[in-house]
Amino acid sequence: TGEDALAPGRPPAGLTPVLTRYWDEDRSWTLDSYRRHGGYEALPLALGTDPDAVIAAVKDAGLRGRGGAGFSTGTKWSFIPKGDGRPHYLVVNADESEPGTCKDIPLMFATPHALIEGVIIAAYAIRARHAFVYLRGEAVPVLRRLHAAVSEAYDAGYLGRDILGSGYDLELVVHAGAGAYICGEETALLDSLEGRRGQPRLRPPFPAVAGLYACPTVVNNVESIANVPPIIRHGVEWYRSMGTDKSPGFAMFSLSGHVTTPGQYEAPLGITLRELLDLAGGVRAGHRLKFWTPGGSSTPIFTDEHLDIPLDYESVAAAGSMLGTRALQIFDETTCVVRTVLRWTEFYAHESCGKCTPCREGTWWLVQILERLEHGRGTEADLEKLLDISDNILGRAFCALGDGATSPITSSLKYFRDEYLAHFEHGGCPFDPHRATLAA
Ligand code: NAD
Repeated sequence: TGEDALAPGRPPAGLTPVLTRYWDEDRSWTLDSYRRHGGYEALPLALGTDPDAVIAAVKDAGLRGRGGAGFSTGTKWSFIPKGDGRPHYLVVNADESEPGTCKDIPLMFATPHALIEGVIIAAYAIRARHAFVYLRGEAVPVLRRLHAAVSEAYDAGYLGRDILGSGYDLELVVHAGAGAYICGEETALLDSLEGRRGQPRLRPPFPAVAGLYACPTVVNNVESIANVPPIIRHGVEWYRSMGTDKSPGFAMFSLSGHVTTPGQYEAPLGITLRELLDLAGGVRAGHRLKFWTPGGSSTPIFTDEHLDIPLDYESVAAAGSMLGTRALQIFDETTCVVRTVLRWTEFYAHESCGKCTPCREGTWWLVQILERLEHGRGTEADLEKLLDISDNILGRAFCALGDGATSPITSSLKYFRDEYLAHFEHGGCPFDPHRATLAA
């Protein structure tokens, strides 16, 4: 009958492991293992209910998109038009590639059936008969594991014709991309899935109205979909007993960088970085926190002033950033903020798809300026240029990639302007070991 997800083997206080609770078990990725932990118990419950009731449950639970934007999952499902004769599609965005973001890949690797059960329930709810998982191209071991799990699910009668005798049919296709960050943008992903070069489409129309093959399509993140079976199995109240009123439930917080025990920490939304660092053994021994990202490099950075901000959508936004993908990259005082921002900006310039001018040209210029600043060849006027270019990208780029590229620049200048100035005052990076004497 499966164990109660509320009592997952005495987790450390503060953690609520549901999706991660048996990742350490031998062969956690098999169907047997998933079923031993209550897997596929939500499916007959959902298939025995009206699809609209499933949508209502997910909406009432308050599940918000875990891919970064935090849009209400149930509301997105309810946008799918009914009875207009076109096929509906479910597409899972498994193209995780935001710097620092590393939760979906381990989730699919450790428990692929958690995703597959969620896919079946979500597809049933939106009345889709075809679902796709669009996986980041480099994640080849995950691709193999997903293929094996999908075969197991077909053999067990969870996929294909007349699932569990319900009369509902679903085909699930796993598709690997070719490793382009832009293909994580939902409309570029759809173009890529259709066989074209992945570049964003103008929205509206949103995919819910005209998505894959111009048909109504729900695009959801892996973790969002994996949240669905526990909601159906344990109920709305159980889900809402965690997190906050507007950001209910639990989520994966990925701690990386200068932290004693990096990894995935599944906890209620609203937990603080201070609490998470306590669980993760703190910043590495002998060092102190300098800056961090709440949700990957596309979200404005925070500093040690923000240790007690509740990590829910509203509180993080009120403090000037975004919860994003909860990719908490931790940097201690040995890190040069200018060099870090340069690295991230090089990533955006490299990954810009080139479709729109502000992002294509702007990210290139940002790299040129940051490079000369980092190497002590910049001027104070360059700082204004960085802000001016960022201003010309923000809100003017075709998709969120351009906006994201400006976040580390504007936020680092807000908190660490002196460190930028120190670079040209010292004629180079004060953190460069060869310039240690200059820095002193
Ligand atoms: P968005 O807020 O524009 O949209 C979020 C979702 O809601 C989309 O699926 C969209 O189709 C849907 N939606 C919004 N308004 C709608 C409407 N009126 N009608 C129908 N559907 C509607 O955000 P976005 O541009 O899709 O994504 C940006 C986010 O992506 C950022 O928050 C960033 O954190 C995140 N991101 C994640 C990764 C990753 O690797 N996971 C990488 C880069 C960026």
